Order: sequence, then structure tokens, then C-alpha cells
Amino acid sequence: MRAQIVAGNWKMNNDLAMTETLITELKNQKKTSDAEVMIAPTFTNLWAAFQALRQFPIEVIAQNMHFAENGAYTGEVSAEMLKSVGVQTVILGHSERRAYFNETDELLAKKVDTALKNEMRVIFCVGEELNDRKSDNHENVVENQIKNALFHLDANAYENIVLAYEPVWAIGTGETATPEQAQEMHAFIRKTLSNKYSNDVSDKVSILYGGSVKPNNAKEIFSKPDVDGGLIGGASLNANDFFAIVNAI
Ligand code: PEP
Repeated sequence: MRAQIVAGNWKMNNDLAMTETLITELKNQKKTSDAEVMIAPTFTNLWAAFQALRQFPIEVIAQNMHFAENGAYTGEVSAEMLKSVGVQTVILGHSERRAYFNETDELLAKKVDTALKNEMRVIFCVGEELNDRKSDNHENVVENQIKNALFHLDANAYENIVLAYEPVWAIGTGETATPEQAQEMHAFIRKTLSNKYSNDVSDKVSILYGGSVKPNNAKEIFSKPDVDGGLIGGASLNANDFFAIVNAI
């Protein structure tokens, strides 16, 4: 049985007071699903979020980290720093990091290595742009992202890897992949992993869908057999909407 996960990526939203308010609202929600729930506030609010959620089954995760252990990397945050404020899981390879901060597959491979070396879990994002889908190149793009950033890993590393398929054209646009498109790509990702490793590895890796998931479309997307949950942007900033999505699993 694969882990089912719903993770909220808050991006560069919510100052400290807003973070505390939203967490209070999240704690008042009723959870009726077995999904693991995670939220990714911005770096400056991780510690406050961790404190507010101590003993509460919502994991606080990070949106990014640097590949180096420490050193002269002004403005960056290391795995050890994240762990020191209670963070055990990090999102890597989000399309906004790839597009606006030039994060390449090669750089992401280094970040993945550092996270795993520090015994962290990684939510690794992949996804094609609209042009790739229109030219029917979407599977190639996603396969290459996985090969370039993850295929150097041993099979047992996948115990700490979660994949998130996020078509770039569906992020923050209100445009969602159809449940069939999501299922098709998730099955393709699983096949890519089983070809390289084994069915045992690919069967155990959770693959989340991300891209304009909302309370009104979550259930249908999550009903697909290879969709193991969601990475949620905009809708994770509203406690009612986020838990409606959590409870749609
Ligand atoms: C995301 O940024 O990971 C995301 C899926 O955003 P949204 O839900 O807003 O499309």
C-alpha cells in the first residue's frame, strides 16, 4: 500500500501572523481521510509552523534547499538548517524553481543527493510545458527529468522519494489536466521506474498530481489508480479548501 499524501505548497505567501492564523484554522478542520498531510510555509516561518504543529499530524516541509552542506552561498538554506527547525521533507524541482531560478536537472540531482544524505524525504517535481504537450513530447520531457535527476540513485533510495507530476501549463492557471491525462502520465512514470529498477520499486513510490487541484476536481483526480495524492498550491492557502481536498482521498 502506497502512502497517500496531500501537501500544500504555500510558495511566497503568508507572513508570520498569517502563517499562525492559517495553522490555527487547519487545526480546527475535521480530517476524514487517511492521507498524510503536509504544509510548506516559507523558510522564515518554518520554525513557528513546526512549533504550532508539534504533536499534530500535519508535517511541516520546505519548498527548497541548497545542495551544499554549508559555506559561502549567500541567501541559501542547507539541509542541516532545515532539520534543525524540525523539517524532514523538502520539495525539489518545482517548475517555478526551474523556470525562475534556472534550476537544471544536474543541479537538482545534487540537491536530491544532499537531502537523502541528510536522511530527508524528497518530493521531486516533474512536468512538461504546454508546447511539449501540444507537440506530443510530454512523456519524453518527464522521462528525461526523472532520468537526469534520479537515475543515479540506488533502488533503496526510493524509500525516501515521492514524485509529483505537475504539468507546468496547469500550475496556477485554473487549467487542470483531465483525470485521464494525469493517470496516463502517472502510469508512464511508474513504468519508467519499473524499467530502470523493478516493479517492487515503482509500486511503492507515491506519485502526487499537482496543477490547479481544487475541492471540486480533487475527488475525480484522486480516484485514478496511479494518483496517490496531490501537491496543492493556491487552494492550500484556504483551510476549508485544503481540507476538502485532503478529505477527497
Ligand atoms: C504548485 O505550485 O505546486 C501548484 C500545484 O499550484 P496550483 O495548485 O496553484 O496550481
